[in-house]
Amino acid sequence: MHNPYNDAITQLQLVAKRLESEYDDKQRFQKAIKLLSVPEQLHEGTLEITLDSGKKQSFKAYRSQHSSARGPHKGGIRFHPGVTKEEVQALSLWMSWKTAAVDIPYGGAKGGITVDPRTLSQAELERLSRAYVRFLGTAVGPWIDIPAPDVNTTPQIMAWMVDEYEIMMRETHTAQLQNPLASFTGKPLELGGSQGRDEATGLGGVYVLEELAQKLGWKRKQDITIAIQGFGNVGYWFAYHADKAGYKVVAVSDSKSGMYVSTGLDPVRTLACKKETGTIDTCACDQEKCHVSLGKKITNQELLELDVDVLVPAALENVITAKNASKIKATTIIEMANGPTTPEADEILAKRDVRVIPDILANAGGVSTSYFEWVQNLSGYYWKKSEVLAKLQPLMATAFADIWTVYEQEKTTVRLAAYQVAVKRVVDALFLRGRV
Ligand code: NAD
Repeated sequence: MHNPYNDAITQLQLVAKRLESEYDDKQRFQKAIKLLSVPEQLHEGTLEITLDSGKKQSFKAYRSQHSSARGPHKGGIRFHPGVTKEEVQALSLWMSWKTAAVDIPYGGAKGGITVDPRTLSQAELERLSRAYVRFLGTAVGPWIDIPAPDVNTTPQIMAWMVDEYEIMMRETHTAQLQNPLASFTGKPLELGGSQGRDEATGLGGVYVLEELAQKLGWKRKQDITIAIQGFGNVGYWFAYHADKAGYKVVAVSDSKSGMYVSTGLDPVRTLACKKETGTIDTCACDQEKCHVSLGKKITNQELLELDVDVLVPAALENVITAKNASKIKATTIIEMANGPTTPEADEILAKRDVRVIPDILANAGGVSTSYFEWVQNLSGYYWKKSEVLAKLQPLMATAFADIWTVYEQEKTTVRLAAYQVAVKRVVDALFLRGRV
């Protein structure tokens, strides 16, 4: 079975080879890489909850806390039947690189429960969420580990979790009851969530696109065509902000099908149409109307292979593979999903000079706004949406500039450049702390 943890380690070793020359003390550097190859802590357990029927059911639960070298652990919690220990561990490494790539003062972590949440009632889901918090206990906290939503976990789930955390702390650890709201991010606005969090990942990706356009000298944005796979939170907000910035979004898709409008589609109308009809099939919408004659229904595979300038995978992992990488016509891929490109596909794309802006940079607008949420919780002072977004833009632009400099200097891929910047920051923190 495919082991994503092995992929994460292979990637780390590849980057380590490139970075080693920057360190005089090679032995110490190798010690740091060895340390970073294993999470600091892995919490693994079985949660038992009572179902509405009165029966008991057990679920496997994990939290991998990879590195705290640069700050408290940070990363989402995933509820999915495919969650495994190896997946959670790999994702925790990638979180350490992501927080370092955008230079926010966190380490990396990831958690998950092996469950299909669609099989549970709301009450059962609440019991499972609260049980997960009890399982982690004091391993979570504003200065220890700050979980957030991930696949199938929502602001409501964060609300239950933060509430359970507060109850638990009152029962046993009152001394630590400082800023319990700052123990989880991605919370509802009414419970210490941040303005702008819902659109931050998509918008952050468009900020990256804008920086890239400047570097590449793309003058006429209206001529730059974009296809987006996935029309959920990330895909929609990417489409919305790209359209607003003047780019031509020509195709979007969801799990069932896709729509291509060669003259450019209107994301707001398309979403309204999808909500109304329940499918994107009939939603060929331009700035004025939706009519089937305006566009063409396409499959998800066709979307990936469209003749566009920019392809944006914003749905699932492993969609660009060795099978389809040679058929991709876009010259730039902006990875808004986590891990949409397999390592084999990455090699093929690099040989074909397809520029891939990696997930750890492209979709870091989400965790960056989680960082802003945490800062607001800690200070008890809440910012307007315009303030949040005004802070996000320079953060993403600086991260892009740091990575682009290495990309140009090293004549490498943007992915390797991003990893180089990120891993170096984590290694330097380990050196400074004297942990190696
Ligand atoms: P979401 O559930 O809101 O949307 C997912 C979209 O993908 C939906 O439109 C769904 O129909 C579509 N989809 C599902 N299966 C598909 C398939 N087989 N083919 C094509 N489309 C399919 O999820 P999201 O929050 O938008 O997350 C999307 C991706 O972005 C995930 O990889 C997630 O890990 C990553 N991500 C999300 C955030 C965030 O803040 N939400 C932050 C960083 C990374």
